[in-house]
Amino acid sequence: MLAGRTLVWFSCGCASAVALKLAAQKYPDVRGIYCDLSRDEHPDNVRFRADVEKWTGVKVEVIKSKLYNSVEEAWDARKYMSGVSGAPCTVEMKKIPRFAYQWAEDVHIFGLTVDEQARITSFEDDNHELFLEWTLRDAGLTKSDCLQILGDAGIAIPTMYLLGFENNNCIGCVKATSPRYWNLVRKHFPDVFKRRAEQSRRLGVKLARYKGVRIQLDELPEDATERVIEDLSCGPQCRAPQLDEAKTQNGESSESARKPPTT
Ligand code: SF4
Repeated sequence: MLAGRTLVWFSCGCASAVALKLAAQKYPDVRGIYCDLSRDEHPDNVRFRADVEKWTGVKVEVIKSKLYNSVEEAWDARKYMSGVSGAPCTVEMKKIPRFAYQWAEDVHIFGLTVDEQARITSFEDDNHELFLEWTLRDAGLTKSDCLQILGDAGIAIPTMYLLGFENNNCIGCVKATSPRYWNLVRKHFPDVFKRRAEQSRRLGVKLARYKGVRIQLDELPEDATERVIEDLSCGPQCRAPQLDEAKTQNGESSESARKPPTT
């Protein structure tokens, strides 16, 4: 019998909320874990997390990067925002804190649904050492099923969805390139748009793609509405940093980061 814990990685998205609910019904001692991005996400996420805690009966634990308080700090430190090898903020703000928290014996549950089998397979291929349970997939639930379940439970979906965004990522997520996405950010969060435009120009990163060409955000026409289908997922399927990165950031050995504490 495994001595590890059952961890649900709650992202303040609808799918991981339902995953936590199902896991709580199956495992009374389940833990819900949230990697703190509260300075970068919509403030309504605080309300959503509280609603989910009440609904599931699970108090979500908040863990965070030991080096950075925001994605902007991580980009400045890494001098990089997003590109072909992914976004460093995913690694710094989500992956490394997870590595520091998890034990080798833990069972992990992520909010991937039955319509995301390719991502599930990819993650399994990259993480043979982890014990994984795909609660939503095994229950045959899609993303839209999760929205329906939350609605039926009387829980308002996070505000970002209501504003027209298709995810509940950080406001101004640097994995996005679509003109529609960035002009939605400009419309609803002009201060964030301005900061992304300034920082990306300073770091030499072209975040938007307009008519097939990468451009700076401050070059994007305000009336551009082109929608690009792109994967903005930020979580388990992202590239894993080497354990040495976890060692460096968390000031502990990579080995100790993967074992239960002795006390
Ligand atoms: S949601 Fe986007 S901006 Fe936020 S950590 Fe993930 S990749 Fe970075």
